[in-house]
Amino acid sequence: MAGGGTADERADVVDLELDRAHSARMYDYFLGGITNFPADREAAGRAMAAFPSILIAARSNRSFVHRSTRHLAQMGIGQFLDIGTGIPTSPNLHEVAQATNPRARVVYTDNDPIVLAHARALLRSHPEGGTAYMQADVTDPKSLLDHRVLREELDFERPIALSLNALLHFITDRDDAHGIVARLKDALPSGSILTISHVTPDFDPEAIARLTTIYESAGTPGQARTRDEIAAFFDGWDLLEPGLTPVLRWRPDPDEPHANVTDAEAALYAGIARKP
Ligand code: SAH
Repeated sequence: MAGGGTADERADVVDLELDRAHSARMYDYFLGGITNFPADREAAGRAMAAFPSILIAARSNRSFVHRSTRHLAQMGIGQFLDIGTGIPTSPNLHEVAQATNPRARVVYTDNDPIVLAHARALLRSHPEGGTAYMQADVTDPKSLLDHRVLREELDFERPIALSLNALLHFITDRDDAHGIVARLKDALPSGSILTISHVTPDFDPEAIARLTTIYESAGTPGQARTRDEIAAFFDGWDLLEPGLTPVLRWRPDPDEPHANVTDAEAALYAGIARKP
């Protein structure tokens, strides 16, 4: 559907659960957005007390989303499946990809209805490319992969860049995070790409343990993972240079504003791999 966009469900019939904190709205708050509510801000305040650099971490992550997307578009990747999209924050992934390749096609996915409610901002595609939004839960990879919107928008005979940025630390081992990622990888053709950024306890274990407790008490269980546990998500695929690195060291921009941020402040690993 060139130039078009679809949001597969109506935004005005869903329960946004404003009485409890949601990770997408807390992340929006950390990024300086306005799509967050008192319960989100209260939990975000506690998260900031536990881990004071969380705003820096959120911005460091978002900057990786931009750098990695631009890099993939420059490599010639023209199809993107972004799971755990978050509340729109300009520039969104398709804007970065289409700045390099106007014909890029992007399917966005999140399980939070607030993202659906704001999906219009994700659907303003360059006329030569295309964007679509579908509400799906990554813990049900079969339904996600079978979704009509995905099958209509992307060509599974050609490489697809799957991005799971700042998502997998919300999927615990009890939910079989590694099994889910394996299912998603299996569905993609050779030459496809997997991009992951993920919170780690490796640099400041106590602060990340406090942070995990606060998210859990706010109703969002999570699991920070070590470098080896994150590396296992890429099993069988070839990591692109410079490998799985602390997020700020993944192809930093020379004029990157976070150049003085430490690995402990950003607390994330990031990497990109290609399917053989
Ligand atoms: N990828 C964006 C936003 C990360 S915030 C970025 O890196 O900038 C994490 C997002 O994951 C939130 O929007 C949250 O709603 C979403 N999410 C959490 N659990 C999910 C699940 N089970 N299925 C789909 N999305 C999920």
